[in-house]
Amino acid sequence: MQFDPGIPALYLPRRPADGEIVPLPEDEERHARALRLRQGDAVTLLDGRGGRTRASVESVERRSVLVRAGATLLDEAEGRTYIALGVGVLSDRSRFEWIVEKGVELGAREIIPLATERSEGRFHAERAGRIAVAALKQSQRAYLPDIPLPMAFASMLERADGFDLIAVCHESAAVADTLPKLLAATPAARRIALLVGPEGGFSDSEIERARAASSAIVSLGEARLRAETAALVALALAANLAGVPA
Ligand code: SAM
Repeated sequence: MQFDPGIPALYLPRRPADGEIVPLPEDEERHARALRLRQGDAVTLLDGRGGRTRASVESVERRSVLVRAGATLLDEAEGRTYIALGVGVLSDRSRFEWIVEKGVELGAREIIPLATERSEGRFHAERAGRIAVAALKQSQRAYLPDIPLPMAFASMLERADGFDLIAVCHESAAVADTLPKLLAATPAARRIALLVGPEGGFSDSEIERARAASSAIVSLGEARLRAETAALVALALAANLAGVPA
């Protein structure tokens, strides 16, 4: 059974049984009404954990919208590669939230606000969560990324054993040490962490700590990119080269 991206998607954070009549959660009910869905209309229910369930609108009442679940299609391709994108918390909150939206669209499985020596600004977890769900439905990705509270850079480096590689993007890295070159040298890498600094960049001591923790320090080219641009470039390159379906 192929899933049809032309059918509107709603988010249901659990996998319903085939034939189950499900009341939509409040936010999704609001979305269904905004889409002017009617009885019999087809919808796809995304559980954010790899499942896409074909469903149809059972009823639209004043106080509830019910859908009848059908078969669930489990994603295989997207789930094979796990990319975590860590970015220093940005002083401009909307720019960080833009990274969340693009990260979901490009298939990130974790989007981690990093607390680094030069990160500034505040991270708004609830807003980021809502933006991620909206991007999940719009892109119809199979996975909703984990978005934890801000994590200290050192704590992220301590997670190295959980990844095949950690790539720290640094504007002063040797231009020959590109991310594609690193990925080509580690073709079996399926759990990849990409780390990008805040507007002020990583400090020298952070880069040294990253090297000491066996992270790769990589260049994204000669241009000095904004943090959000660097995050997008790194994720798009890694997703493409490590097999996350576009
Ligand atoms: N402090 C830097 C400066 O003064 O040019 C700017 C940091 S940049 C705005 C934010 C982050 O984007 C950096 O920490 C790095 O992770 C990433 N970045 C920007 N350009 C890059 C490049 N050419 N190669 C690798 N990473 C880059």
